Amino acid sequence: MSDDVKKPKPILQLVGVRKTFGDFVAVDRIDLDVRQGEFLTIVGPSGSGKTTLLRMLAGMDVPSEGNITLHGELINDVPPNKRPTCLVFQSLALFPHKTVGDNIEFPLKVRGVDKATRKARALELMRTVRLPEHYHGKNVMKCSGGERQRVALARALAYDPEVLFFDEPLSAIDYKLKKILEKELKDLHRETGKTFIYITHSLEEAMVMSDRIGVMRAGRLVQVGTPEEIYETPADRFVSEFVGEVNVIEVEKTASGWQGVDLPGLYAIKPPKEDGAARAFVVVRPEFMRLLAEDETADNCLEGTVYNEYSLGSRLQYQVHVGEKVMLVEVPRGREVKAGRDARVRLGFDARDAIVVGS
Ligand code: ATP
Repeated sequence: MSDDVKKPKPILQLVGVRKTFGDFVAVDRIDLDVRQGEFLTIVGPSGSGKTTLLRMLAGMDVPSEGNITLHGELINDVPPNKRPTCLVFQSLALFPHKTVGDNIEFPLKVRGVDKATRKARALELMRTVRLPEHYHGKNVMKCSGGERQRVALARALAYDPEVLFFDEPLSAIDYKLKKILEKELKDLHRETGKTFIYITHSLEEAMVMSDRIGVMRAGRLVQVGTPEEIYETPADRFVSEFVGEVNVIEVEKTASGWQGVDLPGLYAIKPPKEDGAARAFVVVRPEFMRLLAEDETADNCLEGTVYNEYSLGSRLQYQVHVGEKVMLVEVPRGREVKAGRDARVRLGFDARDAIVVGS
């Protein structure tokens, strides 16, 4: 079977989508196929255009250029209430003086569904989002933040949309609950089989939940791929640094090989993807940078002084000053290195563990 046959067909397609506000380009020439039933997350720093893109997908804004199609039909100008989609906001937008049941049943009431059917469906949805049955009559303002999140999800599902959009729904929630809700959202995606499009500035959140991730920078979609692709083969330096803390060494091509620009020495690395690139960045994740024992060697060795060490829970991170640069090394707890502050150490990384990007 060819890849094209295996891939689910796109439900939403964006071709050359652009949004300008006066002279300012907020979203620039985005081409994207959203596959039926996938969990797609758009990540990017503040101001990169995520919300603007989502607003166009949800029908709250019209693209300045380009086309958005749903099942092949042009929907650029179709208002939100005429689309089979639903948006879950960060602020949730629940009716504060109403009960959990009233909130969830609202979309059904608008459609004229009778009371008994509405309640039965609300209870079913409450089970799906793991809310206890007796919450049906509870005032929504007496629910905790996490419970309100579940009410908002159940209400979104009550619309029975084909596509659910999420605008940073977990950003105001504490870390522990967020971790639980991330997994629940992924389970919910599996149980409902619907298409989820989620935006967040947290790549960590995106990595846990998504089938694919799109990374935005300054209005452009710079890479779309599975979490593994984004982590292992970032398209450029920006994506590699967005994934987490990394060590970056700038190198240039010379007759004798790849010479360090900001950290002298010759580096044994894989050539950059860009043909004929004369400069490149060598990106080494802290977990691939090693503190070398006396008799140990690596494709690339550096010497430095330990400045500090930090506990990251299951791992320990060493901050090592090498020349003018600060390098990070992470080792699993239990494999600590006897190298306290100010110790002279040798660091090493192998060519296969370094990502080489051209820009
Ligand atoms: P955040 O993570 O902070 O929410 P974002 O990636 O969602 O950021 P957007 O809200 O899409 O970014 O904004 C992208 C850019 O477009 C920003 O510079 C913003 O100031 C600008 N922008 C958004 N909406 C408007 C508007 N209605 N008028 C003018 N500029 C706008």
